[in-house]
Amino acid sequence: MARIGFIGLGNMGGPMARNLVKAGHEVVGFDLVKTNIGAAAGVRPAASAADAASGADAVVTMLPAGAHVREVLTGKGGVLAAMKPGALLIDSSTIDVATARDMEAAARAKGVLLLDAPVSGGVGGAEAGTLTFMVGGSEEAFAKARPILDNMGKTIVHAGGPGNGQAAKICNNMILGISMIATSEAFALAARLGLDAQKLFDISSKSSGQCWSMTSYCPVPGPVPTSPANRNYKAGFTAAMMLKDLKLAQEAAATAGALTPLGAEAAQVYGLFCAQAGNAALDFSGVIGLFQERNPA
Ligand code: NAD
Repeated sequence: MARIGFIGLGNMGGPMARNLVKAGHEVVGFDLVKTNIGAAAGVRPAASAADAASGADAVVTMLPAGAHVREVLTGKGGVLAAMKPGALLIDSSTIDVATARDMEAAARAKGVLLLDAPVSGGVGGAEAGTLTFMVGGSEEAFAKARPILDNMGKTIVHAGGPGNGQAAKICNNMILGISMIATSEAFALAARLGLDAQKLFDISSKSSGQCWSMTSYCPVPGPVPTSPANRNYKAGFTAAMMLKDLKLAQEAAATAGALTPLGAEAAQVYGLFCAQAGNAALDFSGVIGLFQERNPA
């Protein structure tokens, strides 16, 4: 069993760290919010990020965005300086591809093996240990990380070299943001045309309009009883996080010179939705409210 430093014990990191404890690892954790460290049962509290990393065989970071990861890894009292050569760093935060690649180069210069390994599956997946990991980095780092990732996830895919895990994550979430808007527009239009939501679902979920946003996360209450629409759009995956990921996709598209007009439009739509009070914390499927308000049945 390994000694693992865990930094960022929030909604996702907390349950992920608990699963590492359950698997028998010695986990030393740090978060800026003290109560988050206390809530992670079985995790030994560290005084700082560097303290959690020092002497660790592996460090996992689960932080909000690229700037936090850069600060924690390479800032004053940073983790990379505290890690032993040959140790593994798994960054599971969703961040921009460019920062992920920079951090891998900084780690390599210190003899640390770094993987970008963002996840999908949400808080439920983190708690159940069934996350999907999209992993970028060397074969050597991936082979070393695999047993640790297996303790937190069910589907683990090596997507290629450094940054490719983040690339996979933002491409996937761009599809998701666009498809949720399309599904929402269709249900709002159906209501306007006098077509019952359940009838549209019965037809489209078995026709060419079928997609995950409809069959797993249907944005109207009724057809999919487990979808957030049935609990007043309590998140799930917040609209704010969807907006963050769509912005990351746009940044990456601009850097790579890729044409993503629908991705750009989706970022605009989620920006508009999140600008209205209270919406950012709702589930991202709540975006249907935008079309229902403008298009009342
Ligand atoms: P969160 O805000 O609940 O947790 C982040 C934690 O990082 C917080 O506890 C915060 O105090 C801590 N933190 C911030 N700066 C720090 C620092 N300098 N040192 C130590 N701790 C610090 O966020 P979350 O929902 O756990 O998401 C984490 C990452 O996972 C994000 O990048 C998010 O996009 C991604 N993600 C989230 C979900 C989800 O459903 N919540 C799903 C997939 C991916």
